[in-house]
Amino acid sequence: MVPLDLHNWMFRVPDTTDKTAAYLPGRVLGIAIPGPLRDLFDYLPARNPPRHGWQAGLRVRVEFGRRQLVGVIAELRTESSFPMEKLKPVTEVIDDEPLPADWLWLCRFTARYYQHSLGDTFAQAMPSLLRQGRVLEARTRERWHLTDKGRATEPASLGRATRQIALLELLAQHRHGLVHTAITAQGFTRQQLETLRGRDLITSLEEPVTGTRPEHAHKGVLAEPDLSLNDEQGRALAHLHEGLGHFSPTLLEGVTGSGKTEVYLQLIEAVLDRGGQALVLVPEIGLTPQTLERFRRRFHVPQVMLHSGVSDGERLDGFEAARSGRARIVIGTRSAIFTPMAKLGVIIVDEEHDGSFKQQDGLRYHARDLALVRGKQEGIPVVLGSATPSLESLRHAREGRFVHLHLYQRAGRSQPARLHPIDLRGRMTLGGLSTQSLEAIETRLTQGDQVLVFINRRGFAPTLTCHACGWLAECDNCDARMTLHRHPPQLTCHHCERTRPLPDACPACGSGDVRPQGAGTERTEELLGEKFPDVPVLRIDRDSTQRKDAMSEALAVIRRGEPCLLVGTQMLAKGHHFPHVTLVVVVNADSGLYAADFRALEQSAQLLIQVAGRAGRAERPGEVLIQTRHPEDPNLLTLIQAGYPQLASELLEERRVAQLPPYSHLALLRAEAPDQQQVEQWLLKIGAALRQHLTDSNLRVDCLGPVPAPMERRQNRYHAQLLLRADKRGALHEAAAWLVTLCEKDRDARRLRWSLDIDPIGMA
Ligand code: ADP
Ligand code: ZN
Ligand code: ZN
Repeated sequence: MVPLDLHNWMFRVPDTTDKTAAYLPGRVLGIAIPGPLRDLFDYLPARNPPRHGWQAGLRVRVEFGRRQLVGVIAELRTESSFPMEKLKPVTEVIDDEPLPADWLWLCRFTARYYQHSLGDTFAQAMPSLLRQGRVLEARTRERWHLTDKGRATEPASLGRATRQIALLELLAQHRHGLVHTAITAQGFTRQQLETLRGRDLITSLEEPVTGTRPEHAHKGVLAEPDLSLNDEQGRALAHLHEGLGHFSPTLLEGVTGSGKTEVYLQLIEAVLDRGGQALVLVPEIGLTPQTLERFRRRFHVPQVMLHSGVSDGERLDGFEAARSGRARIVIGTRSAIFTPMAKLGVIIVDEEHDGSFKQQDGLRYHARDLALVRGKQEGIPVVLGSATPSLESLRHAREGRFVHLHLYQRAGRSQPARLHPIDLRGRMTLGGLSTQSLEAIETRLTQGDQVLVFINRRGFAPTLTCHACGWLAECDNCDARMTLHRHPPQLTCHHCERTRPLPDACPACGSGDVRPQGAGTERTEELLGEKFPDVPVLRIDRDSTQRKDAMSEALAVIRRGEPCLLVGTQMLAKGHHFPHVTLVVVVNADSGLYAADFRALEQSAQLLIQVAGRAGRAERPGEVLIQTRHPEDPNLLTLIQAGYPQLASELLEERRVAQLPPYSHLALLRAEAPDQQQVEQWLLKIGAALRQHLTDSNLRVDCLGPVPAPMERRQNRYHAQLLLRADKRGALHEAAAWLVTLCEKDRDARRLRWSLDIDPIGMA
């Protein structure tokens, strides 16, 4: 057991000073193998040592069972607990140099903090081509330019060779030369290039594909001027400047449109000027072409963008360019936190409250939390930005561990939107919309504005019901209702993707009176199309954006600024700028107010404010109508009348009283199997052993459960869980480490699936 180190206020930072990284004799190599097992596997060094000797962090190929796998040397051991004659030598050493030290450190920390296998952590944190054994080096391309002789030669002197004259003239126009593909794109051939090379008029050099822009080398970092900051932005930036060069976590709380991004850009500029690199993390939905374009336009420096559309080759290139220091800015979603960077100077986490920073399967890390850990390790500032900060970050800010900066005003001239509840009780709705909402929509459209209708349900209707007997379309595999879809017409379970044709009559009583219940995006879209036939209705949800260009085509229509109706799920709510939208209608605010999960209220308040932030960005003030059956709900009223900061304060107080995060720490042991009894029995057994251990070792950790998961049956598997709760992170980790070891050794565990989630953000 590693002794716990509580001097650190947030995360246990274990001692990972690598005592084995040096050139020890290393009779045995402890290899981290991709897979669930946390143990290292012992191998013998190969006959031919790597160029700089055996070191931790080198990738090797090993025979594992019948397969050849790529693993990473994690330790040099002097002996093995296995008989030496049983150990196999590694098959091949892939790297000359160990993988980057900052990356290795972060992986080791992550594996220990999240109680995850080091081999699997390495595998998940590296680009897939490295996982497959590709060498870590820059992809290169050829750049052609004139030689001294070429520069002194009049192209016309080449006589009748017109293509060669043209080629020489082309290169003469480019002082820094041209890359090969740019030349061939103009119709020239390699043959022509080689002929000129043969005459000593031109030559070529290999250069890395990513991060080489000689044409910008002399121009400084800015490609376009900064905006001049307003007073609030200026003060925030001044504070952030003071944080440069050491670990200083900052919460930048600024309403939507207050110009946080502009502050990030200018902070990054300062970091670049000092020769540093910047790492920017954004939520999955927030990584829009608009955001990327803003960064690209502002800076000349090489930038790496890591998102789902990036190919494996580009990912490897980006990794290498960041590691070498050539790439100066890295922007990406969650997994970009695992980008090695030679001279990291700042980490920015935009929309830090966003749930997509937490990985929900396999290695269940939280990228924002790792950003803080990495910032502390590297001694650099970490900026967490949000209009609706997480309660975790708010607590740190209040208690003085984070600098807390505010931007209260919207930048430019736009005004904040006003929120109004709309009482749905006893009212008719059409396609989910009340008469009042429909009237408000009509008014705005007549004024020439755009309207956004937010509805967190895709499909036509949440379910199908029989009005004769009350039958509901339920999934056979899950404890869930099936969603009615129109295109194509069928019932679909959103939890297991199972589909069923629509029934002609009620399967229970045979009645023909089977109707959709409630509204989803498709139904609202249909209703709006009927009501407002002259106005385009654009639906944006996971179904409508299946086609690759659907989203950008919709955004193009919206940007034109003519009246239109947008209907969509959270895909619409985040990250986009819709300057012509002046009215937002939230179809149903209630699901989040009364959900079982203790974080549901925080999350739905954040989402409501995000959605509201889409309205009124230009001159015209915006309005947000919140449809609810609980217009007197105190939390909703607080949010509407006093705003998110006030609601957050009240929620924090509730969490403190209830001893819930951020005032305590949780770990969730989940288990699932096709047999309900089996899961329950196993968790009962594990729970009893854990309780005994907690008593024996005097650990102040509560063990709650087992209880069935909020949705117990999913895809015909039964889910249940055991919850660990502790005031001190150290105690929780000690218990969690013991628990994982117990589960790994338990024979019955092999017949079911289990996982441990440290700092879970949802109980499902
Ligand atoms: P946030 O990131 O807080 O949502 P942005 O940085 O995207 O805010 O700014 C919102 C809008 O205001 C953008 O169109 C941006 O160009 C503009 N803006 C930001 N700062 C300024 C400023 N100092 N002067 C004028 N316009 C600004
Ligand atoms: Zn029926
Ligand atoms: Zn299902």
